[in-house]
Amino acid sequence: MKLNKNYKHLGENYLFAEVSKRVEAYKSEFPNSDIISLGIGDVTQPLSAKVSEACREAGMELSTKTGFHGYGPYDGYPFLKNAIVAYYKKRGIEINPDEVFVTDGAKDALGAFLDLFDVSNTVMIPDPVYPAYVDANVMDGRKIIYVDGTRENGFLPMPPKAKADIIYLCSPNNPTGAAYTAEQLNEWVQYALDNEAVILYDAAYEAFVEDGKKAARSIFEVTGARDCAVEFCSLSKLAGFTGVRCGWTVIPMASPLNRMFMRRQATKFNGTSYVVQRMAASALSGAGLEETMKSVAVYKSNAKIITDKFDALGIEYVGGKNAPYVWFYCGIDSWEFFDYLLKKARVVVTPGSGFGKNGEGWLRITSFNTPERTQEAMKRFEAFWKEYVEVKGKLFKVIK
Ligand SMILES: *Cc1c(COP(=O)(O)O)cnc(C)c1O
Repeated sequence: MKLNKNYKHLGENYLFAEVSKRVEAYKSEFPNSDIISLGIGDVTQPLSAKVSEACREAGMELSTKTGFHGYGPYDGYPFLKNAIVAYYKKRGIEINPDEVFVTDGAKDALGAFLDLFDVSNTVMIPDPVYPAYVDANVMDGRKIIYVDGTRENGFLPMPPKAKADIIYLCSPNNPTGAAYTAEQLNEWVQYALDNEAVILYDAAYEAFVEDGKKAARSIFEVTGARDCAVEFCSLSKLAGFTGVRCGWTVIPMASPLNRMFMRRQATKFNGTSYVVQRMAASALSGAGLEETMKSVAVYKSNAKIITDKFDALGIEYVGGKNAPYVWFYCGIDSWEFFDYLLKKARVVVTPGSGFGKNGEGWLRITSFNTPERTQEAMKRFEAFWKEYVEVKGKLFKVIK
């Protein structure tokens, strides 16, 4: 037996482990301290009552002779695929149910999808970004090149001269909250078509895009995307399914990837749970969707609490409008700032350097908390920042 040597090339997966280690260390020193976490990327609003009702009904149905369901379709039940098609249609995007694959979530699907590609492909990944893209490709041994998200491009890198075969885009972005416009995505689509490349478009935060804003909710808003793109979506951040597990992937029929993914799923996946699919259908339609969007609205108003405070304090940031994340500049080493904020304000954020080299000097703050706690955190942040600005030059090296 020979092990997969590529695992040796994986970086230490230490970001959130290190965050919690430092928080635990602080707690053991100050057991009664009231720490507010705006750090983790997990939702905090409970499921909508409609979705839980769908869970109960589907569960009870399974105990009846006529309502029992065994193995379901590999690509999802028609009732959910149709609800997803209708969810797109409301925003004027036409897809066909055969193009929708129901999955156990976007992370699972993004990992599974790599089965369809040869290891000789060059992969292009934005930096900073959600860390799973890099690691999944390192495990397979593909060559990775990066495109830089920087202050200058608003953390929305555009196509470079370099060629790539597989391109990851994450918009609205985790961790920066920045979101591409359809015009910007059009450049990426042209680049992919010119290079005969595929775009793996992670739209896990599409529901946070504000209607009437310029940001795109789907890559399929762009002409030509049906010839080069696959879209990964999730109910995790949209409807609080981080623990329930459900998402979907849209693969245009014209692409050979559609049939290949069907074949892959039929071999390695036995379908998402019937109960979960009923919950997902409830979250995506009618009164269930209305309730779901109320939770999204809570996070969006929390993000506004954060950005209003940053505006008042003159802090440089991106995001917060079309995403539950605000990405702000601190001017010093991200981890140093993290420690200082934890000790002085008892507020936990996430150091940007954990998401890629371009994250150094930046931090991610999330709106996944209650409005009250977010308010309290920002009150503490304000007091902290005023003091910080005064001592920053003396205490810390200021980085560019
Ligand atoms: C949270 C997140 C995911 C994971 O979604 P699941 O459906 O829970 O697997 C995927 N992509 C991004 C960018 C995320 O932030």
